[in-house]
Amino acid sequence: MRVSHYTESTECGNGEEESPGTTTATTRFGIRGDLLIPGCGQPIEDGAVVVADAMIEWVGDFSNRPAKYDAVKFHHVKVLMPGLWDCHVHFGGHGLAFSTLNASSSFLPGAPTLAGAVTVADLRRTLDAGFTSVRELMGYAGYLWPGIRDGYLVGPNVYSSLAALSITGGHGDDHELPLCAVKQFGEAGGASYLCDGVDECTKAVRTMVRRGARCIKVCSSGGVLSLNDDPEDRQFSDKELKAIVDETERSGRAVAAHAIGKAGIMAALRAGIKSIEHGCYLDEEVAILSYLVGPMLTLGFTVKEKGATLVATRHIQESLLLDPSGFPEPVVKKIKKIVPLTRKNYDLAIQQGVKIALGTDTWNSNPEHRVAHGKNAMELTYAVKAGMTPLQAIAAMTANAPEVLGRLAPKSGQLKAGYDADLIGVAGNPLDDLAFLTDPNNVTHVWKGGKLYKSPA
Ligand SMILES: [Zn+2]
Repeated sequence: MRVSHYTESTECGNGEEESPGTTTATTRFGIRGDLLIPGCGQPIEDGAVVVADAMIEWVGDFSNRPAKYDAVKFHHVKVLMPGLWDCHVHFGGHGLAFSTLNASSSFLPGAPTLAGAVTVADLRRTLDAGFTSVRELMGYAGYLWPGIRDGYLVGPNVYSSLAALSITGGHGDDHELPLCAVKQFGEAGGASYLCDGVDECTKAVRTMVRRGARCIKVCSSGGVLSLNDDPEDRQFSDKELKAIVDETERSGRAVAAHAIGKAGIMAALRAGIKSIEHGCYLDEEVAILSYLVGPMLTLGFTVKEKGATLVATRHIQESLLLDPSGFPEPVVKKIKKIVPLTRKNYDLAIQQGVKIALGTDTWNSNPEHRVAHGKNAMELTYAVKAGMTPLQAIAAMTANAPEVLGRLAPKSGQLKAGYDADLIGVAGNPLDDLAFLTDPNNVTHVWKGGKLYKSPA
């Protein structure tokens, strides 16, 4: 039987992990919060964590801390939470380096360099807003990740697909440019990559892995902003999708499917894809199938834990509807059709107990833009509007998130012993109103991998 993913607060995250016990850490410090929100489970008043090097070593009531921590120095924050995760972003320099609607400008020599330079500030803004991890499903931050990892740049942990895999004429194609230009751009490291037929699909995954992708993105349905296709279109055949999933699994990675229309969602689930992006046409049939990904469909298992995650992206959709000016008429029509549908079906997904992680489709480098980097927490407010409790919404942006990376999922998104020491301090209780987290000034502290990146002056 299906059990709602939202009926019990303990139902989040990706399974049980044992405490590592006391390690031989070289640095150890504590953080004490008037309130501790663990990401998964109930908040603790006057809670604390002990961080040993880059890992959380202990979590609990401050008053019950083990005597061995008597000498440990504790920082104080009002509210302590896991660092947030955005499971769907794009760092491409749009809005500053390039205009949105002139795709050819981003194809010119030097364009990726410019996008990368602009992205440096966007990465910092994202981390300052409390997002210690992002999954980038097309963009340039994935190429900057080694610089972040090695300490040359400041930003969140980036798990990037680098490019999106698309059929010719599909969502990832650019329909107004010569095909040869789009193909060459993809070959040269551009953010979309066209592949048709089983062999090209397999090779496309290998190419992304070779470039350093930490996940694979495929467009299994048409899109809203692509000109000549429709979100209700299915893209890639079953055989092509299967080839992409098989090759991705051989590399230990996981696939995310841009899937808006029902046909594209169903095809992705049948192929064994466990991260459904947008999922706007989700209905009851899809909700049930989301528990039965891939081979389980035919075997008839109903193992919820093995099911797919819907990555809801309401922030971008509402923003597009609010101001669709500047887009060509066919695109505006698609926006007006999709958004009301999404509202209804997102509510349904929550009621049906579909596993949900939050993404934002954040893509704009102009800080004034509604979907600019750093405003990612807007998605939490939409999750509550769709029917989640504030605690469930936080779980969807923390504990539920890493699972979308499959076998590469880090121990992250929870305040739990043995997990990455990615934590934030907040100036007030976000459970009263999650909009509080949308102002980066309310995020007083950011630790990533046990290192302090933001604190009050
Ligand atoms: Zn996207």
